Amino acid sequence: MILGIDKLGLSLEANDELLNSIVEIGKSHYPNEFGGFLIGNYSDDNKRLHITDMILPENFKASRYFFERTTKGIDKFLVNYYKETPKKFYVGEWHTHPDNSPIPSFTDISAINAIINNQNACLVNPVLLIIGYSKTQVNFEFYVYFENKLYKYGTC
Ligand SMILES: [Zn+2]
Repeated sequence: MILGIDKLGLSLEANDELLNSIVEIGKSHYPNEFGGFLIGNYSDDNKRLHITDMILPENFKASRYFFERTTKGIDKFLVNYYKETPKKFYVGEWHTHPDNSPIPSFTDISAINAIINNQNACLVNPVLLIIGYSKTQVNFEFYVYFENKLYKYGTC
């Protein structure tokens, strides 16, 4: 699927297979939240992002309304991706909102600030994928943090 933000001239492509597996893994942790790291590559002008992979955290704390991961144990993998061709990067994170909508909470927004301030990552415009789901439906939204604001990707 391809999404975009006209105002910023940004677009994002994510493999359907990858999205499906993220949703399935997320749902398997019901009723708790769950999440992971998104990996991808950017076009030469940095305007187009292709999300190709994800990595699951080895260390995390989760409850129905809370998810916190650490990079403990997977730092190595995040760095290894940088050496691949075409170059892949840690581009953002995903997490679920069980029985809820895919709207960022205050905690989500402060978590983004923590990601940006992480000197190891050098992630300027992190992407946030939130999957809201119930027994009968799944809704997900992609967001990007751009110049101190969170923008939602829409259909192109
Ligand atoms: Zn959240």
